[in-house]
Amino acid sequence: MLSYQHSFHAGNRADVLKHACLHLTLRLMRRGQGEIRYVETHAGRGLYDLRSAAAQKNREYETGIAVALAAKGAGPDLAAYLSFVRRFNPTRAPRWYPGSPVIAAGLLAPHDRIDLAELHPQEHAALEDTFGDDPRVRIAKANGFELAAKLRPGAAARTALLIDPSYELKSDYLAVVDLAERVRAADPRAAILVWYPVMADGREGVLLRRAESRLPEAAVLQAVWAAPDPKARGLVGAGLLAVGLPRQHARRLRALSDTISRVFAPPAGAAASGPDD
Ligand code: SAM
Repeated sequence: MLSYQHSFHAGNRADVLKHACLHLTLRLMRRGQGEIRYVETHAGRGLYDLRSAAAQKNREYETGIAVALAAKGAGPDLAAYLSFVRRFNPTRAPRWYPGSPVIAAGLLAPHDRIDLAELHPQEHAALEDTFGDDPRVRIAKANGFELAAKLRPGAAARTALLIDPSYELKSDYLAVVDLAERVRAADPRAAILVWYPVMADGREGVLLRRAESRLPEAAVLQAVWAAPDPKARGLVGAGLLAVGLPRQHARRLRALSDTISRVFAPPAGAAASGPDD
């Protein structure tokens, strides 16, 4: 049932979009007053070793974070994320890739809180190792959809929620929108990011159509790096729905996702690299 393992994909182009946008969202939220509660439905292991056998299988990071780190003129918001990644990688070739929980822990303050759900026993154990006894972090071996559906506004906290399933189940495409809608109704101040894959066969269309009707105010941040092809498999891009962010923050995020699209666009005249698995 739980066959997806993010280590095979860590640092790919879709990850760079997700993690750069999360990094910017949390940086902007940190400027406000009061405690932040960061919640993640599908946390993964936190930190990824790009030399692991899994990451080496398809070496997806080579067309992802490695390209971004080498890009010229990244712009300040992408550059800020890349310098965060460099903190884990003092040498030139990236080895350690920080996932979303590690980005949150790196940006949030000692008085903030981090609630993570991860269901896979191996990934859950690795996540516990990543955080040791960081007093801000609580890790549940729980279904992230169920955990987030119970969210209510905290006494002082502003909530940032990342919804990031693997989309192995077709039902995830609609479940993520329903969950975001439910959380927004319970806590209208929550900032919600929903990551989704842009698939060669366009199957993410159901998610986008449901978001248009249920979350019309959501900003759609998308980066696409290969041409769609109804007969092909795999990712040709990735996107995020951003809900509950101030308009100027959503504008900054859109500019960042456009920059990432350009960084991953094939050079003029060159064939696009293939989809990620
Ligand atoms: N958010 C991570 C990051 O960006 O660093 C990557 C997470 S990965 C896309 C999805 C994770 O969800 C996997 O580690 C998988 O084991 C876990 N998972 C799958 N179903 C789950 C569920 N119902 N609840 C919580 N975790 C689940």
